[in-house]
Amino acid sequence: MSPAWEDCVAGHREEPAPAELRWEEDGTLFLEWSDGHQSRLGAVRLRAGCPCAGCREERAAAAHDPAREAGPATVDPSLSRYRLRKLERVGRYAVSVDWGDGHNTGIYSWSVLRDLCDCFLCRMERDEA
Ligand SMILES: [Zn+2]
Ligand SMILES: [Zn+2]
Repeated sequence: MSPAWEDCVAGHREEPAPAELRWEEDGTLFLEWSDGHQSRLGAVRLRAGCPCAGCREERAAAAHDPAREAGPATVDPSLSRYRLRKLERVGRYAVSVDWGDGHNTGIYSWSVLRDLCDCFLCRMERDEA
């Protein structure tokens, strides 16, 4: 076995998975990761990062439409689209979210959730990458 190959394998970090995942009363998703990191994802951020094809298209369209560049000021967290109805595990790698407006096609994999973490540490890590 060549040492170079072993170095390579050792260098690959295992994808963190949540050891704990719960929806808090205040409408945030709390995650404690296998590497000890903790994330709190607000409903608005979670919904804005919905990884389903429909939402991705919508975001892409909005990015090209100056009229829709209204920014977060127009986001009303009390809207039903930001209310969580159900959070369901999908296999061992993701959760699906059922929103108050009936939208439920978003499957959030662990890496998507980790990417949505907006804490200081994660922002630093992303800046460096
Ligand atoms: Zn969606
Ligand atoms: Zn983080």
